[in-house]
Amino acid sequence: MHYHQYYPVDVVNGPGTRATLFVSGCEHQCRGCYNQSTWRLDSGHPFDQAMSDRVIADLNDPRIKRRGLSLSGGDPLHPANLADVLALVKRVRAECPGKDIWCWTGYRLEELSPAQQEVVSLIDALIDGRFEQALADPGLVWRGSSNQIIHRFRLDDDV
Ligand code: SF4
Repeated sequence: MHYHQYYPVDVVNGPGTRATLFVSGCEHQCRGCYNQSTWRLDSGHPFDQAMSDRVIADLNDPRIKRRGLSLSGGDPLHPANLADVLALVKRVRAECPGKDIWCWTGYRLEELSPAQQEVVSLIDALIDGRFEQALADPGLVWRGSSNQIIHRFRLDDDV
C-alpha cells in the first residue's frame, strides 16, 4: 500500500484530536473529487513498517492525546489496500486501547466484500458512498454529499 498524506495531529477529519492517514488508490472516479491525485495505487509513498510504527506511537503519545485514527484517501477499502489496512487496524485494536478508528470509503456498506467487511468489523465508524456532486453540501459534517452515511458501530461513543 501507498499513502499520500499523514497528519499526526488532525482536528478536521473525524471527532476530537486524531491522527489521519490518506491512503493511495481509488477506483470510484467521482465527479468533483478533490483528491484526484490519490487515485493511482502507486502514487505517494510506500506505507512500510516504519510508518505503521509511527502511527501506533503517535496514537499512544501522552503529550498530545489523540482520540483515534482516521483512514481516508483514496479509498482504504480498495481491494489492493485491504491487507495493509487490516494489519493496521488490528495493530490499533491490540496496541492502542481506548482509541477509535473512523474510515471513509466510496463503497456502500451493503456492497462490501467479505474481505472489506473484515476491516469494517474492527472499526468504530464508516462513512460510505461515492461523492455525488449534485448532493454536495458544505454544511455536512464529516461527509461531502448527502447520500453518504455515517455508520456508527459503537453506541457508547459520545458524538
Ligand atoms: S471515493 Fe473519494 S477519493 Fe475516490 S473518487 Fe470519490 S471522492 Fe475521490
